[in-house]
Amino acid sequence: MQEVRERVPLKPLTTFEIGGSACFFVDVRSEGEIREAIAWAKEKGVSFTVLGGGSNVLVPDDGLDALVVHLVGNLYSADNGTLDTWAGSDLLFLIQTLGAQGYGGWEKLAGIPGSIGGAVRGNAGAFGSEIKDFIEKVRALNTETGETREFTNAECDFSYRHSFFKDHPEWIITVVKVKLAQRRHGDITKSIGDTIAEREKRHLQNVRAAGSYFMNPQAPQNVIDTFEKEKGVKSREGRVPAGWLIEKAGMRGATVGGAVASLQHPNYIVNQGTATAENVRQLAEKVKKAVLEKFDVELQEEAALL
Ligand SMILES: Cc1cc2nc3c(=O)[nH]c(=O)nc-3n(C[C@H](O)[C@H](O)[C@H](O)COP(=O)(O)OP(=O)(O)OC[C@H]3O[C@@H](n4cnc5c(N)ncnc54)[C@H](O)[C@@H]3O)c2cc1C
Repeated sequence: MQEVRERVPLKPLTTFEIGGSACFFVDVRSEGEIREAIAWAKEKGVSFTVLGGGSNVLVPDDGLDALVVHLVGNLYSADNGTLDTWAGSDLLFLIQTLGAQGYGGWEKLAGIPGSIGGAVRGNAGAFGSEIKDFIEKVRALNTETGETREFTNAECDFSYRHSFFKDHPEWIITVVKVKLAQRRHGDITKSIGDTIAEREKRHLQNVRAAGSYFMNPQAPQNVIDTFEKEKGVKSREGRVPAGWLIEKAGMRGATVGGAVASLQHPNYIVNQGTATAENVRQLAEKVKKAVLEKFDVELQEEAALL
């Protein structure tokens, strides 16, 4: 088993760059190492939590009194467009690496930070593509029973920013099997470049944030009608963008301490450098209250509050 370290700062391991230390911390590169880490935590009587790329988490200011099991390493095998990958592998690395071998189709996901396991858990998506569109199977470990199981795409119960695993944190995703299409390397490279450029245009990607802080909520018909009329676009699945609701509720640019609801993309809560987790939580509550009062719509966090 890898060395379990003590009092490891988590701030540098998250895109928010916020939060205290983990009492215990271990890097893992395989399902076997996850098993060992969980056994260690159970023996010591401490709780545990999983960390991937840290791009969708808010770590409390006083840290975590737990063992943080950090999935690391880009480990994969690929054969004729079927990719078998360790859940800790970086999503962009996989898109680029398989692209170089002439396999793709998922380039619209390029630039979503974090691991493929994290992407599966939250059914990450962008520009009309979601990771679910490419998943064949997911292997996961049940930390309560020790069972491992392969889930088919249907069993993953994917929907907008949701999967079975989000409702069942006792399952840790360990391996992801993806089916890709054969395409020309040059086309894939261009598509990856275009997607990343479009992301940069819509919002600077190297901000201290966790991406969209809230999920796009389902809204009453009158709110959908106002949105569609104003923006000239159709709402998807009865949802309206949280960023639009936040702006209309007058919260664009709102701040608490060092945290701001971004002027460029109000659904990004950005750490301006000095924000604490408490600042982010308080700003999120303010934003939720304003949107509820104005639209009678409840916003729900997309970022995981550890
Ligand atoms: C600048 C920026 C832009 C972003 N743009 C997008 C976007 O366009 N679309 C989008 O969908 N998201 C976006 N995000 C959010 C984020 O990148 C995704 O949610 C990403 O998939 C999270 O993966 P991760 O490995 O970083 O997860 P982490 O942040 O490490 O973890 C998130 C949650 O998943 C759990 N988890 C992680 N790995 C596993 C696993 N193997 N098994 C079980 N649970 C696990 C963690 O315990 C935690 O609860 C953006 C974030 C940033 C910072």
